[in-house]
Amino acid sequence: REARQIPQRFLFYKPYMSKGIADRILLEQDLHNALANNEFYLDYQPQVNLKTGTIESVEALVRWRHPTRGFVPPDVFIPIAEECGLIIPLGKWILENACTQAKIWEKQGLPPMKVAVNLSLGQLFQQDLVEMVQDILHRTNLDPSFLQLEITESMTMNIDQMTQLLHELKALGIQIAVDDFGTGYSSLSYLKEFPIDCLKIDRTFVRNVPHNPNDEALVSMIISMAKHLRLKVVAEGIEEVEQLSFLIDGGCDYIQGYLFSKPISPQQITETYKDLHHRVEEVLTQLQYIE
Ligand code: C2E
Ligand code: MG
Ligand code: MG
Ligand code: MG
Repeated sequence: REARQIPQRFLFYKPYMSKGIADRILLEQDLHNALANNEFYLDYQPQVNLKTGTIESVEALVRWRHPTRGFVPPDVFIPIAEECGLIIPLGKWILENACTQAKIWEKQGLPPMKVAVNLSLGQLFQQDLVEMVQDILHRTNLDPSFLQLEITESMTMNIDQMTQLLHELKALGIQIAVDDFGTGYSSLSYLKEFPIDCLKIDRTFVRNVPHNPNDEALVSMIISMAKHLRLKVVAEGIEEVEQLSFLIDGGCDYIQGYLFSKPISPQQITETYKDLHHRVEEVLTQLQYIE
């Protein structure tokens, strides 16, 4: 693997620059202290198995409670953390925290749930990524099959390098999901090379289903392709029953979205596990998907 570099610093416009470079620099400074000051925490969003109505897995989503600005969204600070290299210690903290939490749920007697953790591009270039994951699994004593890493495809790493890295990660016994599938630099050619377990259909495709025929066609195509490749497919960003209904008809078995739950705290996961299960059953019964 090539040494990790910080590409194209300040060279092109990013949405968070709209408030001004000065503001971004201030945020970056604060970001440097945020880890030591305990300002990060993780929320978890359930991924529901529509066949069983159970929470199959939860996705860990990092949050930053800034001392004066309040909540800063990850879409804003993750790219900054990437550019200044902070994503490496932050990513490690996120992974360790999520694995520890998965163990806590297990000890509380909750039914088995995988925990999905987002990896950012910078982490894919991290020299000791595989060792780090292995070490965290070892220290937290989490069964590797309960960890799923979410990656997004990117042009900056070539397919051979990426394939090798993913094989090394898979050898640890963990699962790999491709996040935001269909956006960015996703290409079909890597689907046959990469040892992946799951595709996550990006929210932008699902948003206008079932009203936009083009989006409908794309979503149906992704689901059927995933099934033929024997990949699990998760639809992200489901807010409406109509969307759910369309996905069920299309054969999608897993969904994640506000319809069933927003990202919530680990305590809320524990407390609402049963309620959520009931709500899923209720909705599926209404749709006459189950009797
Ligand atoms: P993502 O990994 O694709 O995560 C899904 C995002 O969609 C989350 O936003 C989630 O809250 C949101 N979402 C889920 N269901 C719905 C829905 O029904 N409606 C709407 N409107 N939104 C929904 P969030 O938490 O703001 O995270 C945004 C992005 O920031 C993530 O996209 C991911 O790329 C990045 N991110 C978040 N947490 C982490 C992390 O721990 N590590 C890394 N590297 N990136 C992260
Ligand atoms: Mg994700
Ligand atoms: Mg996504
Ligand atoms: Mg994303």
